[in-house]
Amino acid sequence: MFVDVHTHVTAKEFDADRERVILESGCIALINNGYSAADNRATLDLSKKYPLVKKAFGLHPDQTWNLPVKEVDEEIAWIRKHKPFAIGEIGLDFLYAHPEKQIDAFKKFISLALELDLPMIVHSRKAEKEVLDVLEDMHAKKVILHCFSGKLKLVDRAEKLGYFFSIPGIIVHSLHFQELVKRASITKLLTETDAPFLSPIKGERNEPKYIPLTIQKIAEVKGMDEKEVENSIFANYQRLFR
Ligand SMILES: [Zn+2]
Repeated sequence: MFVDVHTHVTAKEFDADRERVILESGCIALINNGYSAADNRATLDLSKKYPLVKKAFGLHPDQTWNLPVKEVDEEIAWIRKHKPFAIGEIGLDFLYAHPEKQIDAFKKFISLALELDLPMIVHSRKAEKEVLDVLEDMHAKKVILHCFSGKLKLVDRAEKLGYFFSIPGIIVHSLHFQELVKRASITKLLTETDAPFLSPIKGERNEPKYIPLTIQKIAEVKGMDEKEVENSIFANYQRLFR
C-alpha cells in the first residue's frame, strides 16, 4: 500500500493526462495539497471525482507573503466549511519577502489544524529553524514536514517534537535525505512526490507512480526489507490520518 502525502495533481503539467496519472498511480491515497485559493477549489473538485484524491487545503507562503490579510482570513473560513482531510500546503519560505506576514498566516493555519484536529503539511525553505520555532511555540500536533532540508540538528529537534518527515523521490540522489532517513526512526517517515516537481528521474515530470523508488531507497539506506518499509510507512499514515 503506497501513499503520496504531498502531491499537486491539480497542476497544469497534468492537464493532458491527469486521469491516467491518478488511476495508474499505484497509490491508495494521493493527498493533493492546495497552494492557493484557486488550487484549493480545484483540489475539492478533483477529490469529488476520484475518491483516492484526498483534499488538503492551505495557502503556500508564496501566496501569504503578499495576499491581503483579509483574503487569508476568508480562505480560512472557506476551508473550515469544506471538510479538509488535512491542512496544507502551509509554512514559511524566506526566499519570499515579508517574513512577519508569512508567520502570521502560518500561525492562523496551525490554529485551524489544531481546532479541526487534522494533520498539517508544512513547507519550509530557508526558514527551517523558524518553522520549528513557530510549531513548537504553538504546541502543534500531527505535523508533517514536507521535503525538510534543515540541518541534521534540526532533524533531531523535529523528531523529538514528534513530527513526521515526508520523504521526496529525490532521495535517490540526495545525500541529505539519505542521511535524514538514516537518523530518523522508521515510525516517523512518510512518502511524498511533490509531483510534478522533485522527480527522482532528473529532467522528467514527477508522478505519484514513482513512490516505490522512494521506498526502495529508504529500505536500502536503513538496511530493511522493502515490504517492511512499505508496511511501516502505511501504518504511520493510518496512525496519523485515522
Ligand atoms: Zn508542494
